[in-house]
Amino acid sequence: MIGGTQQNDTTCSIPCNLCGSTDVEELALRDRNGNYLRTVICKICGSIWTDPRPKGEDIEKFYSKEYRLEYKGIHRPKPKHIYREVIGALRRFDFMKEVIRKNDLILDIGSGSGVFVYTLRKLGYDASGIEPDQGYAGYAAEVLQVPVKVAFVQDIDTSDSVNIVTMHHVLEHLEDPYGAVCKVHSLLKDKGFLIIDVPNAENIRQDPHNRYHKAHLYTFNPETIECLGSKAGFNVHKISVEPYNGNISAIFQQSDVPGTVDGKLPGNYDKITKILDAHTTLRHFTTLTPYKKFLANTIKAIQEQMIARKFGSAKDIIDSIVREKNNKLTPESEAQ
Ligand SMILES: [Zn+2]
Repeated sequence: MIGGTQQNDTTCSIPCNLCGSTDVEELALRDRNGNYLRTVICKICGSIWTDPRPKGEDIEKFYSKEYRLEYKGIHRPKPKHIYREVIGALRRFDFMKEVIRKNDLILDIGSGSGVFVYTLRKLGYDASGIEPDQGYAGYAAEVLQVPVKVAFVQDIDTSDSVNIVTMHHVLEHLEDPYGAVCKVHSLLKDKGFLIIDVPNAENIRQDPHNRYHKAHLYTFNPETIECLGSKAGFNVHKISVEPYNGNISAIFQQSDVPGTVDGKLPGNYDKITKILDAHTTLRHFTTLTPYKKFLANTIKAIQEQMIARKFGSAKDIIDSIVREKNNKLTPESEAQ
């Protein structure tokens, strides 16, 4: 129905990661670059995934060496990327600060260049990271000098338990997001927290042509994310759609009771497909959203260049912005 398909193939090679169903509908046959990429939606729960997965992909190899290069065209972050990341890191901190206690151990899974880990440490927290990309993990360890190991989520030793796990734009890249959330459940200390951010299937801020790309194996909406956490044995502490980018942010708290939901979400498939059907390319470009976004991105790019040029090193950029943030915090703030 989207992407100009005439026949709607209702088969899939991978069962739904959330509910186990194979009852699907084809959503698209092309990725944002016009290359073949088949995307399906589960009619039972509304989960969206790439099926079949891109051929010839050795996922681990792709993510450990080629992903950053192909996806962002860089291997090491430029100052403007560091600036963008520290602004994002402080937003992530603001979202989760209500659940962090002073001596908590925090593990950032998929820590990228390590800016979030560095920022948390700068704010006085005991944070470390794991990252499959060797270049980025090396950057975190050598340049930012933070404890980041080269590893995938499945490699984590669950005997090294932590109080808080953060996963920023990670779940959508994994072959088994449910398995990863279950793994985090077993990694957390009693009543620990899992904090996640993912793109939102219902986001209508972007051109419909840019909706799917091969690095994203899954796409969620707030309902499927909540259900994923509940099924894995978490309670939802907070879930929201971010007003500035339309992404989903959620805080889950580990529960002693195993998850009892089966992953089925009646009505969610209809809800998502209605939103996607209504958001056509023509409609997208007849609203003000893409033009406002273009203007905002242009202004942001200029600001980033100017600010990034003012500082000598990546650490200087982060230190300066975190210092500014700390000065704005009230004296009784525990992050002082
Ligand atoms: Zn499903």
